Amino acid sequence: MTPKINRRTKIVATIGPGSESEDMIAKLIMAGVNVFRLNFSHGTAGQHALVAARIRKQASIAGVYVGILADLQGPKIRISSFREDSVHLAQGDRFRLDLDLGEGEGDARAVGLDYKDLCSSVSRGDTLLLDDGRLRLRVDAATDSAVDCTVLIGGKLSSRKGINRLGGGLAAPALTSKDMADIDDLSRVQPDFVAVSFVSSAEDIHQTRRLLENHNLRADIIAKIERAEVVADEEILNGIINASMGVMVARGDLGVEVGDAQLIGIQKSLIAKSRTMDRVVITATQMMESMIDNPMPTRAEVFDVANAVLDGTDAVMLSAETAVGKYPVEVVSAMSEAALGAERQAVTRTSRYRLDREFSDAQEAIAMSAIYAANHYSNVRGIACLTESGSTPLLMSRLSSGLPIFGLSRNAQTLQKLCLCRGVIPLFFDAAAFEPNEVESRAIEFLLDGGYLLRGDSILLTKGTVMGQSGSTNIMKILPVV
Ligand code: PGA
Ligand code: MN
Repeated sequence: MTPKINRRTKIVATIGPGSESEDMIAKLIMAGVNVFRLNFSHGTAGQHALVAARIRKQASIAGVYVGILADLQGPKIRISSFREDSVHLAQGDRFRLDLDLGEGEGDARAVGLDYKDLCSSVSRGDTLLLDDGRLRLRVDAATDSAVDCTVLIGGKLSSRKGINRLGGGLAAPALTSKDMADIDDLSRVQPDFVAVSFVSSAEDIHQTRRLLENHNLRADIIAKIERAEVVADEEILNGIINASMGVMVARGDLGVEVGDAQLIGIQKSLIAKSRTMDRVVITATQMMESMIDNPMPTRAEVFDVANAVLDGTDAVMLSAETAVGKYPVEVVSAMSEAALGAERQAVTRTSRYRLDREFSDAQEAIAMSAIYAANHYSNVRGIACLTESGSTPLLMSRLSSGLPIFGLSRNAQTLQKLCLCRGVIPLFFDAAAFEPNEVESRAIEFLLDGGYLLRGDSILLTKGTVMGQSGSTNIMKILPVV
């Protein structure tokens, strides 16, 4: 039995204590996970390497490509720990963030902090948000070593929760020394994607790429968009998107900094912008949050996933739902159902996009023409894309279509990368193993054998005159499946 393939939107699931066993990984793959996220905010490189090996093994048993995304912690600013597990803050209480307090010394009046620059970065009247915005503090005064606050919205506060400022701008450099040490250990994990947290400029991405290259790692980089000041600056944002393979709409931190009412518009424009710039996009965080404890999603959650799919996202992501939730398999199934429901809507199948645009090269012209032809010629049941680097199927998947794009490649790295691209089914096919004049019939036979096509269908096939050379696609054919 192989996992369902008829869903176009990809699912990214975070691994954690609730899902790291071999058995659970196998079940999650069967339920439809396309990419697993290893969260480097928790655990050691050794633990992540162990989980990565389980994922590779179970993917190969299931006979599908599954990607691995290593998500670096970044400069998340956190309080340190309390004497007890947690404290309770009530509205109107005074509360101090105190640089002089160490680990385990916090109480209901004050807690330590690992970010030494906080005191000089905040000023009287600022709103600080703790624990993803669940608690709110107003800054009354900032001295050299402490920030005095009044609690605006109280609640339970446990150790090591994050801090954001409303409006953003609590800037610490993107790559921390922990991130750099984690990159040094990534050879043991061999991730397909590396996500950089709290990216503040394209230079953060370039720096990450240089560090990866030093270790001969060719993982693609995903920029997490989670700073209010980045989405407010078009030029910086464009630079970041351009420098990366794709972006994550990191709604957790971003939503806290800009407010949820602003976030919906930002999500839509980030998705549209990424697709226009030929980049992939993951919509993340609290998509099916209630399923951490419940076996069913709320209607609002189903609509949230569906809405991201209608916006054109490549992937939707699960965090705590699969990392620590009680229903990891059920939440993947629920997310899959929600995405499929949205994909049945006509808007996800047609594209008016780029009709008025000049194409920059033969590859782009072929990719766009292929989708146009496939969408407008009902005999065509799919697009077989013989690819070396994966760039043609990636371009194709920037346009909406209801037809599967079969990314046929002999290159494992290419196939892994395509796990994140909406509508692309990565399949191992070594065109170089056949005589040039029989490659097309062999590709059709291969898809027929795999149950992806039926006799009597037509297929649209793209390839390059010179096979095995990246960026060389210049041929498009419509072939009968006989
Ligand atoms: P995180 O990133 O889960 O690592 O915080 C995602 C987000 O902020 O939405
Ligand atoms: Mn975040």
